[in-house]
Amino acid sequence: MTVAIYPGSFDPITNGHLDIACRAARLFDKVIISVYDTPAKNLMFSTKERVELARQSVVDQPNIEVTSFTGLTVDYARKLGARAIVRGLRAMTDFENEFAMAIMNKKLVPDCDVVCLMASWKYQFLSSSLFKEVARLGGDVEDLVPKPVAAALKEKLVTLE
Ligand code: ADP
Repeated sequence: MTVAIYPGSFDPITNGHLDIACRAARLFDKVIISVYDTPAKNLMFSTKERVELARQSVVDQPNIEVTSFTGLTVDYARKLGARAIVRGLRAMTDFENEFAMAIMNKKLVPDCDVVCLMASWKYQFLSSSLFKEVARLGGDVEDLVPKPVAAALKEKLVTLE
């Protein structure tokens, strides 16, 4: 059974993330969306919330699971017996970072490969941070995220006011 992890902040999971996870689920027997506990980012959602929102977004995907992790991604991949670390590549923005991280990960765990899937054209310019920024300012961006995220966002914006 080939297992892949799909690590990231997922703050929150967007349709772009979901697209990558579902496409990876056609390539691997099991894909584990792995929510990084402590990214160096200004988070809107707690780890528990990010995991729960990702779970609700993949309820109809039998071979996608969601967990959270701390520490090195490669250590987590090894712990789960993953053969691959899946990442999404958007035009212009992601390549250099992902390239450097993939080389470093390969050095740390030679038998685990980074598999990058190209972002679908309609999600090329979608990021969680831009989504949050526009949502905070009152922009209508609900159609860019799975339904459970859109609902949670409404509640979150009320509590942040
Ligand atoms: P990180 O903090 O690790 O960058 P993110 O949650 O921002 O975590 O993203 C996780 C992964 O999903 C990264 O590989 C990122 O490039 C990819 N990704 C983010 N947004 C999109 C998108 N719109 N389309 C495809 N891949 C994406």
